[in-house]
Amino acid sequence: MATTSFHKKTLGLETSEPAVTPPPSGAETTFVKKPKLASSKSKKREIPEGLWEKCPKCSNMVYDKELDENLKVCPKCSHHFSIGARERINSLVETCSFEEMDAEMKSVDVLEFTGAASYKSKLEYYEKSTGLKDAVVTGIGMIGSHRVALAVMDFSFLGGSMGSVVGEKLTRLIEAGTNKGLPVIIISSSGGARMYEGMFSLMQMAKTCGALGYLGRAKLPYISVLTNPTYAGVMASYASVGDLIIAEPGAMIGFAGPRVIKDTTQAELPPGFQTAEFLLDHGLIDAIVPRSEMKMRLSCYLDFLMQGQGRSASLG
Ligand SMILES: [Zn+2]
Repeated sequence: MATTSFHKKTLGLETSEPAVTPPPSGAETTFVKKPKLASSKSKKREIPEGLWEKCPKCSNMVYDKELDENLKVCPKCSHHFSIGARERINSLVETCSFEEMDAEMKSVDVLEFTGAASYKSKLEYYEKSTGLKDAVVTGIGMIGSHRVALAVMDFSFLGGSMGSVVGEKLTRLIEAGTNKGLPVIIISSSGGARMYEGMFSLMQMAKTCGALGYLGRAKLPYISVLTNPTYAGVMASYASVGDLIIAEPGAMIGFAGPRVIKDTTQAELPPGFQTAEFLLDHGLIDAIVPRSEMKMRLSCYLDFLMQGQGRSASLG
């Protein structure tokens, strides 16, 4: 089921891809439409892509700059747009405190997977389009007065899917946290395991959870932050085993997608099914934290969870 729901997401990406793929080789901005608009300066100013975003919740047009300044949260209705891993890290850690780990680690096409496009070409494409080497950025930084081992997933890299590199980087981060006496925070955003790596991606579920087991034995806390969307193999492994599980408002969280569940159970799903708010009511998550408060709240939770461990954390 993990593969099915992710498969659908990948298909979605694939369908939009042919339109997007050609530009990277040349200039992205030279569209055929441009010469037509060149005659009117005022129109030209309105047209450039990426200046405005339509909010899917309130349908208002939001100025991109305003959205960036507001941590990608709609200023009108507080809808949380997806945010890149690096932007999110910048919004959470103290300035210049983040030391990235395994920044050069890259996925290998072990199975020589080919479909509509080869895995290798997809990796190359997403590396260029996101500026990331894979779907997670890991490292050690300061949040408030706490040194933390922090991982942030990026949905824009192959749907935030978990392959060998994501699993390995997370495992190394958790192990570094365990060895240095640091709390671990993983911010998830994923469609699940990466089908292009077959069984190797599924093995990451056990590996990451094994490492978290050792972290727990060392009595160090693990905070899992779920953002929109967190599904399938990621939700079925490290994302759902936090000592504290928090989510962003409106985030969709689950194992299989609602359509698959509806088709399988042949039952009407309750309103708000798989939203963070629904899962808070049903006890799966502990708190919903708006992005603007995330840093402050994580810092407070760490104050509480790291009580009595301050010395080891600051020594690490
Ligand atoms: Zn809105």
